[in-house]
Amino acid sequence: MKALGPIPQGFEADADGGLLIGGWSAEILVGEARGTPLFVYDSRRIADQVTRFRAAFPGVALHYAVKANPYGPLLDAMAGLVDGFDIASGGELGKVAHLGLPISFAGPGKRDQELETAIRAGVTINLESEREAERALAIREREGLAAKLAVRVNPPFGLKGSGQKMGGLPSQFGVDHDRAPALVQRIADAGADYRGLHIFAGSQALSADAVIELQRETVALAASISEQAGHAPLQVNLGGGFGIPYFAKDEPLDVESVGAALAKTLAERPKILGETEFAIELGRWLVGEAGVYLTRIVDKKVSRGKTFLVTDGGLHHQLAASGNFGQLLRRNYPVAIASRFGAVPEEKVTITGCLCTPLDLLADEVMLPRADVGDLVAIFCAGAYGLSASPHEFLSQPRAREILV
Ligand SMILES: *Cc1c(COP(=O)(O)O)cnc(C)c1O
Repeated sequence: MKALGPIPQGFEADADGGLLIGGWSAEILVGEARGTPLFVYDSRRIADQVTRFRAAFPGVALHYAVKANPYGPLLDAMAGLVDGFDIASGGELGKVAHLGLPISFAGPGKRDQELETAIRAGVTINLESEREAERALAIREREGLAAKLAVRVNPPFGLKGSGQKMGGLPSQFGVDHDRAPALVQRIADAGADYRGLHIFAGSQALSADAVIELQRETVALAASISEQAGHAPLQVNLGGGFGIPYFAKDEPLDVESVGAALAKTLAERPKILGETEFAIELGRWLVGEAGVYLTRIVDKKVSRGKTFLVTDGGLHHQLAASGNFGQLLRRNYPVAIASRFGAVPEEKVTITGCLCTPLDLLADEVMLPRADVGDLVAIFCAGAYGLSASPHEFLSQPRAREILV
């Protein structure tokens, strides 16, 4: 038997044992959405995370990283909660441009058309290279536009123990830190609107100590670059990387400790950052635990002594739960039988999707309450990097539905 990941706190069952999401029974939500597979996002959980961030990080701006979940109604809700959107493509700009919040645009390989559209829309461009800077400056010159330009820095350090280590390595992201001062000077000398620095060094951190150290290093680096360049940044985006528990033994990130340490770091910051506004950009931590992926059991079979529950969902909607989104080792996400939530586990099962590939595994050899054809399976922690990070054209299965409650 293999362990399941921890179900986020606060999920309960109704009188019939059905899972409740945002106060609604999973079965009713499926009816509302006219079928499975379905992603349900609980707006109250998202608002609660924002409240928790505000309490832990007073005075620090909060940006939402759109790539974590670009579902329209979720973005609408987010617009009333955060201070800005961080986008990574012209397509994402199209999804948030009308929402009226400040936007910043990072990401390698920005095309001229994307740069021009973003500059026209007043978006802050986080420049990823000297060449990209020259293209942005040329567009500004040619079109006679005011251009808000910031420098994304590839730092000499990374987030320790994070799922995806970035920083301290050669990278397509950002300008190497020792070349950043010259680029800042180039932007300012060209007369563009120099906004500041963007330093993002990793994702899915659960260790408060690692994030605290990273933020200290980030503030020190921002000061050092600014001093060398001779220009104070209006804004420093400190990155984010706050993680959520997905797997057995994962412990949640202690954000209150991180906030207390950052307050101290900022209170002692070098003079050149005295007037600077600081931002943290978060995706996964804000929305990950708010999402539940619901899929229905279509077949139950025993093969050579092993019991399979075959569902109508799969990795084409929820690639990460199958273990194929950057994980080194396949481990089980938090999964439950939504039709019998909280009932006693009494059957060892393997839950698969409906795709013709053995990779399409949603839970492997786990103990769950007895389930049968027609029952709903819930996969938790599905709010970030779910549908939009999955190959939904694969096998030409129907696209998942989505609903915000
Ligand atoms: C992906 C990304 C984020 C969001 O990361 P999470 O781990 O989802 O919080 C933030 N900033 C940048 C630059 C990113 O590329």
